[in-house]
Amino acid sequence: MTDVRWVAFDLDDTLHEFSLASRAAMEMVYDYLHEEFGLYHDDMRSAYGAILKEGQSTHFVEDIPSVFYRRQRFEKLFDRFSILPHIHLDQCLNVYDDSLSQVLTLKEGALEILQACKKSGLNVMVVSEGPHDAQELTIKRLGLSEYVDRLFTSSKMGVHKTNGLLMRALDEVGCSPSECVMLGDNLDRDVMPALQAGMSAVWVKKDVLPSKLPAVPHVQSLKQIVARFDGLEVQKQFPVPKTAKAHVA
Ligand SMILES: [Mg+2]
Repeated sequence: MTDVRWVAFDLDDTLHEFSLASRAAMEMVYDYLHEEFGLYHDDMRSAYGAILKEGQSTHFVEDIPSVFYRRQRFEKLFDRFSILPHIHLDQCLNVYDDSLSQVLTLKEGALEILQACKKSGLNVMVVSEGPHDAQELTIKRLGLSEYVDRLFTSSKMGVHKTNGLLMRALDEVGCSPSECVMLGDNLDRDVMPALQAGMSAVWVKKDVLPSKLPAVPHVQSLKQIVARFDGLEVQKQFPVPKTAKAHVA
C-alpha cells in the first residue's frame, strides 16, 4: 500500500482505445480515397503505416496543433499516390476528425478508476505525448474532464516521457515522486520512466510481461484496480497491484 497524492494516467490506449479509434477513422479516409481515386485499402494502409512511424519518433515536443501534424501526414500519403491535394486534403481531414469523434471508446474500468480516485481524495493528472489540443479534446469527448485535475502534454511542456515530462509534471503540482503513481500501457514510455523517477508505476495491458524486463506491477485491465479500491478504508491511498513475474518464453 502506498500513500499518494496524485495518480498520473497515460491517455492513449490506457484510458481509451486510441489505436482502434485512429485505425477506424483512417479506414473512413481510405474509403473516401478509394471512392474518389480507386486506390486500394491495403496499399494505403501500408503507406500510411510507414508515414506514421516516421512521425512518431518526434514524440510531439513542439507546441503545434494536431491538425498540422495530420495535414503533414496526409500530404505525404497524397504524395505517395501522386494525388493533388485540391479540396480532397481538407475533406480527408474532416472525415478523419468526424469519424474519430464517433468511435472514441473508454477502456474497460477507465471511468470507474477515475471515480474511485476522486472518492479516495486523490488528484488525477493525465500525462501524454501528443499535441495538447487533441489530447484536451479527447478528454472532453470521452466525458472525463470533470475527473482530470491537470493535463500535461509533451507539446506544451517541450519534453517527452523519457526526457523529463513526468518530473516536470510533478514539479508543476508540487508533488514528490514517492507521492505519485503512474499508470500506462507502454513499458518503455510510461512505466520505466516513472520507476526511474522514483514513482510507483503500474503497467496496464492485456499482455504478459516480456522476460527481458524487470518485474513491475501489472494488470490486464483498469477494472482489476477498481476492485481493489473497495478494500481501502482510509483516504489518499492507491492500491498498487502485486508485481508480476516476468514471462519466460
Ligand atoms: Mg499509451
